[in-house]
Amino acid sequence: MEDVVALTQELIRRPSVTPDDQGCQMLVRARLQAGGFAVESLRFGAVDNLWARHGQQGPLVVFLGHTDVVPPGPLTAWTSPPFAPEIRDGLLYGRGAADMKGSVAAFTLALIAFVKRHPDHPGSVGLLLTSDEEGVAVDGTVRVMEILEGRGEHIDYCIVGEPSSNERLGDTIKHGRRGSLTGTLTVHGIQGHIAYPERCDNPIARALPALAELAATEWDRGDADFPATRLQFSNIHAGTGADNVIPSRLEAVFNFRFAASITADALRQGVAAILDRYGLRYDLSWRLSGQPFLTREGPLLETLTESIQAVTGIRPQRSTAGGTSDGRFVAPFGSQVLEFGPLNGSIHKIDEAILVADLSRLQAIYEDVLERLLVRQWPDL
Ligand SMILES: [Zn+2]
Repeated sequence: MEDVVALTQELIRRPSVTPDDQGCQMLVRARLQAGGFAVESLRFGAVDNLWARHGQQGPLVVFLGHTDVVPPGPLTAWTSPPFAPEIRDGLLYGRGAADMKGSVAAFTLALIAFVKRHPDHPGSVGLLLTSDEEGVAVDGTVRVMEILEGRGEHIDYCIVGEPSSNERLGDTIKHGRRGSLTGTLTVHGIQGHIAYPERCDNPIARALPALAELAATEWDRGDADFPATRLQFSNIHAGTGADNVIPSRLEAVFNFRFAASITADALRQGVAAILDRYGLRYDLSWRLSGQPFLTREGPLLETLTESIQAVTGIRPQRSTAGGTSDGRFVAPFGSQVLEFGPLNGSIHKIDEAILVADLSRLQAIYEDVLERLLVRQWPDL
């Protein structure tokens, strides 16, 4: 199990700020090939992706992860350099330690150990890595999924190694994620002298009641898995800077984090209906950056829950909180998708770290899932 610490350190040593992989995937590739996996490197633009598989039959169980990291921020703020892994007081420090080079090392070695123990295992096991999860995510997982589905390589079960745990390893599984939809609104008016408002059309005065209604509306009630869907404004701007000019336009940007029970189309239509009701002249553009997904039940959720409990003694809670992940690109193909990984308290921060003891436990959980899912518990699959 020491190996998982060493592999995590080797990965951290490569400063793979999005989307520059810096050889991380070659490290993993060499290990998997030696372990008998068929491995492909798929490069699109500046993004490196890796697809590895062992076995030909279904069901196909896949670990999904990323080798890229967010920038370290000011180097002098770090206690030890971000790309020189260092262990202090039982913690391994370095950029990407928790998000998510520790998970990448843990599931790579779990896969290799599983295949070594069961060279003729039922089903298939696989690994999908990208170097563009933290960035625009255009040439990463989404592209590889198109290729795999085009070939008929269907992923039945997918575990994303994102850091899902809050206080203790194993306390939380992310069993879904909300969707993310951003709207950019321009409300038009007529500019003029503020002393002659009858000759102007003030877009601020016109827009405010509509914006207030947008902000106050509950778009769905929420359910056991998702909180109610609300709209949040992130930017609002109007005005020329002068205090005697009515401006010609107001611009606002807002975002929905939305549940699986409502669609992006319904939200788009609902927003337009409110703006129309207030008689605004406006332009509105949309960016859908992630569809919601949910794995409410099924063999993967049961198995992962049992594996976590077996290794840590903790019964994990289920949560859909937080931002989006690359699971959004896998779930639309009908796969069961869950996220499970280490503590997330330090991710994207100065002095990011992972508990050294959690690395081997993480590997043990990932290995146990394969064991239960493919060999022990679901032999009839
Ligand atoms: Zn991540």
